[in-house]
Amino acid sequence: MEQQIAGKTIAQWQEKCSLLTPMMALQEVFWANPAYEATEQREKHPELGKLNMDEAEARLLRFAPYIAKKFPETEAFGGLIESPLKKIPQMQRELEKGMNKDFTGSLYLKCDSHLPICGSIKARGGIHEVLRLAETIAVEQGLLSPGDSYLAFDSDSFRTVFSKYSLVVSSTGNLGMSVGIMGATLGFKTIVHMSLDAKQWKKDLLRSKGVTVVEHQDDYSAAVLAGRREAEQDPHSHFVDDEQSLDLFLGYAVAAKRLAKQFQKEQIVVDRQHPLFVYLPCGVGGAPGGLTFGLKSVFGDSVYCFFAEPTHAPAMLLGMMTGQHSGVSVQDFGIDNRTAADGLAVGRPSALVGNLIGHEISGIFTVEDGKLFEWLKLLADTESIYLEPSALAGFNGPLRLLTDPAGQRFLRENDLIGRLNQATHLVWATGGSMVPPEVMNEFYHHQS
Ligand SMILES: *Cc1c(COP(=O)(O)O)cnc(C)c1O
Repeated sequence: MEQQIAGKTIAQWQEKCSLLTPMMALQEVFWANPAYEATEQREKHPELGKLNMDEAEARLLRFAPYIAKKFPETEAFGGLIESPLKKIPQMQRELEKGMNKDFTGSLYLKCDSHLPICGSIKARGGIHEVLRLAETIAVEQGLLSPGDSYLAFDSDSFRTVFSKYSLVVSSTGNLGMSVGIMGATLGFKTIVHMSLDAKQWKKDLLRSKGVTVVEHQDDYSAAVLAGRREAEQDPHSHFVDDEQSLDLFLGYAVAAKRLAKQFQKEQIVVDRQHPLFVYLPCGVGGAPGGLTFGLKSVFGDSVYCFFAEPTHAPAMLLGMMTGQHSGVSVQDFGIDNRTAADGLAVGRPSALVGNLIGHEISGIFTVEDGKLFEWLKLLADTESIYLEPSALAGFNGPLRLLTDPAGQRFLRENDLIGRLNQATHLVWATGGSMVPPEVMNEFYHHQS
């Protein structure tokens, strides 16, 4: 019998999902989500009501004095880990030239590439989960009473307690950096399982901070299994589970409330007449999923969230399109999960995200690796902003939306054509500021 994937042969899946054939041929696609729903349908999903991003926001505020002290680069922002919002008109002009078409609307970049502490979007989710764990242990152990200043976390008595706990995480690089740096700073025994995609400089940096780095010659899913197994053997161990963690998810979601403030300050209007399109690079789905949840909570039906994946690693798209979520992997369909976008090199999506907020995602598009390097250079030349390859994936969003027949159909069906000239396009830049100059130089001169 022919091999089956979740009860169907590949040919049967191809018949059911028309985009599967071009995806298996590694072509770029644009997928509009047929399950996309208006926000008033949120009540149908009671599990969403249980997700409390205000709690995560309050926690980050409680820790702000500690963060400001330990990471002086955050002092000017009162210990908040936040990134700039930048208008990028020169880049917009170059992209418009490339596609022979005007954007009609403004292009912005959310520079999570320049988040303090670890230079990637993981500074939101990863750090929130570590702080939550530290807070829980501190309360359980009687170290902290209500009303105490969180500066107390910077003391030997806290560090001695935390040193009895180990913090384990699996990563393609950036999650390991955020959990590793924050965990080691608080005094946890921190162990990072790196997949084969992880860059050498990230491993070196973590080791220099006293983090144990375990290197795997296998992809992300295998590194997750190994990390989870290690953590299970030790009752004093906490595994940061990128495939199912709500603490990560909510740490990302908080960004939406802060973005609304930045929009206000810049006098950028978001409402039904002024739609917001957000383009989010996607690996396992936690970061773009948490952001989508937050953005939908704040901006409702005025925001459209699209995920961006490499043509070689369209894990979330496969999971959503087949409805199987973590039940399928890109390798099942002969796709190799080998991409220069190391932050997105994930073959199997989160079980949590598709199930939880699948109906809030407007669509998913894929992007060829070569274009990431083209845009990396273009953004550097036009705006002097330097990103890592993964972080450029979002730039294919406006292009696919405005030129792909499926993108144009999405705009028509959602009655967006008439409002496009007052739209804001926001590309979420997810990493890059900590890339060593010599590695960035290689990216910049990359020949595809
Ligand atoms: C982790 C990461 C993403 C995607 O986040 P997921 O939670 O894996 O979907 C995107 N870009 C960069 C640079 C990342 O490190």
